[in-house]
Amino acid sequence: TSDVLAGFGTTIFEVMSKLAIEHQAINLGQGFPDEDGPADIRHLAAKSVEEGPNQYPPMMGVPELRQAVADHDRRFYGLNVDWQTDVLVTSGATESLAACMLGLINPGDEVVLFEPLYDCYLPMIKLAGGIPKFVRLDPPNWEIDEEKLRAAFSDKTKLILMNSPMNPTGKVFTREELELIAELSIKHDTYAICDEVYEHIVFGQKEHLSLMTLPGMRERTARIASAGKTFSLTGWKVGYLTAAADLTARIAKAHQFLTFTTAPNLQRAVAYGLAKDDAFYNDLKSSMEAKRDRFRNGLQRIGFTTADCDGTYFINADISSIGFDGTDEEFCRLITTEAGVAAVPCSAFYQSEGARTNFARFCFSKRDEVLDAAIEKLQDFF
Ligand code: PMP
Ligand code: GLN
Repeated sequence: TSDVLAGFGTTIFEVMSKLAIEHQAINLGQGFPDEDGPADIRHLAAKSVEEGPNQYPPMMGVPELRQAVADHDRRFYGLNVDWQTDVLVTSGATESLAACMLGLINPGDEVVLFEPLYDCYLPMIKLAGGIPKFVRLDPPNWEIDEEKLRAAFSDKTKLILMNSPMNPTGKVFTREELELIAELSIKHDTYAICDEVYEHIVFGQKEHLSLMTLPGMRERTARIASAGKTFSLTGWKVGYLTAAADLTARIAKAHQFLTFTTAPNLQRAVAYGLAKDDAFYNDLKSSMEAKRDRFRNGLQRIGFTTADCDGTYFINADISSIGFDGTDEEFCRLITTEAGVAAVPCSAFYQSEGARTNFARFCFSKRDEVLDAAIEKLQDFF
C-alpha cells in the first residue's frame, strides 16, 4: 500500500453494508435509493446497448450529454455554458472529484475543506499531495464559524472543496455563506470545487444556489453533479462537471488518464433524463421530503432529537438524546447487529484530530414500508 493510503481503512459504507448483510439488517447506512430511477431512462439505455455503438465515446463525453448538461445549467441556474468547452462527463461525481484534485493540486498546496466531509475527499487530496485545512461544522445546526473559515485560507490555498447540499449533514448552504466563500476564494485567488450531487434534493423553502452563479465565481468554480442522485441510478456512475473552458481543460487532462470515458449508452440515456419536465424534478424533491418527514417523525416518536436536514437523503439522530452513552460507532454497530437496522456513525466523516460526534446518519431514500419497518425495529429495541 502507498504511504498515503496506509493511513486509511476500508470505507465506512462498505464496512456497514457488509455488516448489514451479515445480520440481515435494514440498510439505512450506505446512501442509495431502494427503487431504481425512471423506467424510460433505463429502457433507453438498454436499447442503446442493443443498437450500439458500444465503442469509446469522445474523451469529454458524448455530445448529447454535454449539450444536455449545458441546457440543464441554463435552465436551473441561468448559467451560460458552452457545451463544447465547459462540460466534462466523468465516471460518477467521484471521478470528477479525483480529476479536479489530480489536475489542479501540486504537492504542498493547501485545500480548505468543511468537516464532516464525504469520505473520498481527503484521500484524493492527499494522493495529489495537497494539505487539508479543516473547518469544522457541528450538529445540530452545522453553522459556519466565519473566523475559522477566514483563518483556514492562506496564500498557499489552491482550492476550496465543498459540498452543498451536504452529505452527511443535510445542510444547504445559504446565500450569505456562499458569499463568504466567494469573497475568500476571490481574495486568495483560489479555485472552488463545488460538489452539488444533491442539487435537486432540497426541502421546504430552502433553495439550492450554485456557487458558480455568484459574482466573480464563474471563472474559478467547477460544479460537479451526478445522474446517480438525480435519477436514482447510483450504480451507473455517470457524473458531469461544468467549469470555464481553461479550467475544464486542466481537469480533463487528468480525466483522460484516469478513465478516459464512461459507457456511451448510459450517457445517452442520462442526456434524455436531464431534459425531463419540471414535474419530474418537483416530484423527486417532494417525495424525498415526504420520506424525510416520515422517518424524522418516527425517530422523534422513539425519543431521538435530530439535526437540521434541509436537503440530501440523510438525517442525523442524536444518540445521547435517548440516553446512549457510548460512541456513535458503537451505537451503529449495536443497532445493526441487535436491532436489525444499519446506520453510519457521523464521526466517520470527521478526520481532524479528536473530532467526534454523538450522531448517527440514516439514509431515508427507501420505500415507506421499509422506513416504517426500520422505525418499528428501533422502537422495539430501545
Ligand atoms: N459526492 C457526494 C457528496 C456523495 O454523496 C456521493 C455519492 N454518494 C458522491 C459524491 C459520488 O457520486 P457518484 O456515485 O456519482 O460518483
Ligand atoms: N455516497 C454514499 C453515501 O454517502 C455512498 C457511496 C459509496 O458507497 N461510495 O452513503
